[in-house]
Amino acid sequence: MKFRRWVRFAGATSAAAALPLVAIDRLHLRKPVITAEPERGTSFWMATIPTPPRFPHLDEDIEVDVAVVGGGFTGMATAYYLKTGDPSLRVVLLEAQRLGSGSSSRNSGGVSPRFRGHDPDDRSRHAYDLLKRFGETEEIDFGLQENVPALYLHHRMPRANAPKITGEQLAREIGSRYYVGADATSTNSLHPGKLVAGLIQANARVGVDLYEYSPVVEIERGRTITLITPQGRVRARDVVLATNAYSPQLGIVPEIVLTIHHRVLVTRPLTPTEWEMSGLERWPLRFESGGYSTHTVRSTADRRFFFRHVLGHRAFEAPDWEIDSRARKAGQRELLRRYPWLEDVPIEFEWHGITGRTRDWWPVSGQLDEHLYLAVGFNGSGVMPTHFFGYLLANRILGNELPEHALLRPPEMHRRIPGKLSRHLVFQGWINFRKLRDG
Ligand SMILES: Cc1cc2nc3c(=O)[nH]c(=O)nc-3n(C[C@H](O)[C@H](O)[C@H](O)COP(=O)(O)OP(=O)(O)OC[C@H]3O[C@@H](n4cnc5c(N)ncnc54)[C@H](O)[C@@H]3O)c2cc1C
Repeated sequence: MKFRRWVRFAGATSAAAALPLVAIDRLHLRKPVITAEPERGTSFWMATIPTPPRFPHLDEDIEVDVAVVGGGFTGMATAYYLKTGDPSLRVVLLEAQRLGSGSSSRNSGGVSPRFRGHDPDDRSRHAYDLLKRFGETEEIDFGLQENVPALYLHHRMPRANAPKITGEQLAREIGSRYYVGADATSTNSLHPGKLVAGLIQANARVGVDLYEYSPVVEIERGRTITLITPQGRVRARDVVLATNAYSPQLGIVPEIVLTIHHRVLVTRPLTPTEWEMSGLERWPLRFESGGYSTHTVRSTADRRFFFRHVLGHRAFEAPDWEIDSRARKAGQRELLRRYPWLEDVPIEFEWHGITGRTRDWWPVSGQLDEHLYLAVGFNGSGVMPTHFFGYLLANRILGNELPEHALLRPPEMHRRIPGKLSRHLVFQGWINFRKLRDG
């Protein structure tokens, strides 16, 4: 088993108290550093629902059965299924910032009933049904819309089959002359903020101990595992790492997961004329063909134009990205090249988010050793799979073996992404090339 070892950073604890993320990774051959991510700005999704309740930070030493690190979709699903599976367990969830403040509240809310890069099958349908059943059982409405018409847009003519919808049609139907064609499909969508809020509510209801602003800065492994946070320790029999794209920064599988940075822009509600022009009534979800620098468009319930674009990759998988005027202009340019009529429509919300990419589009999932579990690297399409992989890990810890456990792929089953700085030069170079070529 190969696992990046966490090393003690003498004296870090007091400094760390003010910092959300602290990570040291000896195998990176970097000097011990403290990486502080600034307080995350909120997304449209969280800004437009009632603010979820706040939870305390850990300020004492505790002993629990299972500790989950990371309070996004994955961590909250894991904790929920652990506690509902065995209410006698003491389950604690430690989140570095606010619960759900990572990718889980910053995404586009597309819910594919398949695992990314893989055809739908019985297992992915089971996974999708589990998410739906969670909403029904907990009576949580997370705005799930099924069979939403979607476009798969091409800005270069595909080699295989000519797209069914022509560029001329698109100009009329979605107000964009940028694309040479598109194929119609359908998928599902939800309101990510409502799913975050629902998971928080469900975890609180079933009795998971929730802690916010409690970053795990060190893991001591022994007969029990000790998680060290700036103001308290957790001793646990089992630990689940659910830190997704933040994992490499923490020294967890950095050789497998690549961090890709995104930015989302959301306009004010469109006027009736703009709404007509946008074609969002007929085509409320849009994806672009292509690899790393693609875009997503969707509508919101109050008729805004939602646009996601890729910022790029940062050296050593850093989790933050300063949105300066250059980054802002570049994003604006990408939006207006596609939808020039949006020029005078003000942007009311914008935020940054990261996704964790693996070579086979599959999450790094399973066990690092007998008592240390993980599910990270959901490849920009985790809304449905995160919930399922949380369920799988919870059941494994509970001793309930399921046929779907065959889906877990621990680090040794993943291909490495070579390089450290060279990796950045290659990926950022590729993204820049694509942006230059495609706009
Ligand atoms: C812009 C954008 C658009 C996307 N669009 C889609 C989409 O349309 N459809 C789709 O299916 N998926 C989409 N995704 C991906 C999806 O959002 C993610 O796969 C999913 O949210 C991952 O959930 P998670 O719980 O694994 O990770 P996260 O939500 O990132 O949760 C990880 C948590 O771990 C915490 N953490 C990190 N380090 C520590 C530590 N040391 N101690 C304690 N806590 C820690 C972080 O603060 C974070 O809250 C998108 C992502 C982005 C960024």
